[in-house]
Amino acid sequence: MTALQSKWEELADIKDELAARDWFMGTSGNLAIKVSDSPLHFLVTASGKDKKKRTMEDFLLVNTSGLSVEKTDLKPSAETLLHCAIYDKTSAGCSLHVHTVANNVISEIYGNDGKIDFQGQELIKAFDLWEEDALLSIPIIPNHAHIPTLAEEFRSHIHADKGAVLIRNHGITVWGKDGFEAKKLLEACEFLFQYQLALIQIKSK
Ligand SMILES: [Zn+2]
Repeated sequence: MTALQSKWEELADIKDELAARDWFMGTSGNLAIKVSDSPLHFLVTASGKDKKKRTMEDFLLVNTSGLSVEKTDLKPSAETLLHCAIYDKTSAGCSLHVHTVANNVISEIYGNDGKIDFQGQELIKAFDLWEEDALLSIPIIPNHAHIPTLAEEFRSHIHADKGAVLIRNHGITVWGKDGFEAKKLLEACEFLFQYQLALIQIKSK
């Protein structure tokens, strides 16, 4: 199996798992996985596909500018520039972006703060935060309709080889060294968001 085939399979498996969680409502969401460093090529989801189905047209190979490196009728996801920013600034190997009700509501409640903090939560260990008083701070950026503007703002919050950024009333993007780590971080974030929403509901009664 070539590197391209094995990365394709890895990303397709992640897509299936996230689809089983119903995290691709209305064809939303996009996923990417790095295939090579020089030249920097990565697979990204094709635009407008039903991500619950597994086909040979699910992904296409793009370059550091987010442009297809092969002749194809497929279009890269509209938000490919966010993935480009991650691979340009870090040595991450996989990046995942999903729209869920939980991440949207959290981004609206805490949007004016520009971030949401989690402390004293077991699952922040997914981000390698092991100290008892460790703090996970997830930035929340405005949802600019102009994707290059959104990508530029997003880029200013990429500081490490793994991370997460919320886009207000839009979704979350996480990245990690490989597919396993990126998925782990995404699941940890969604757990924390659901926990926070449940807590707010109980406290408001
Ligand atoms: Zn999106």
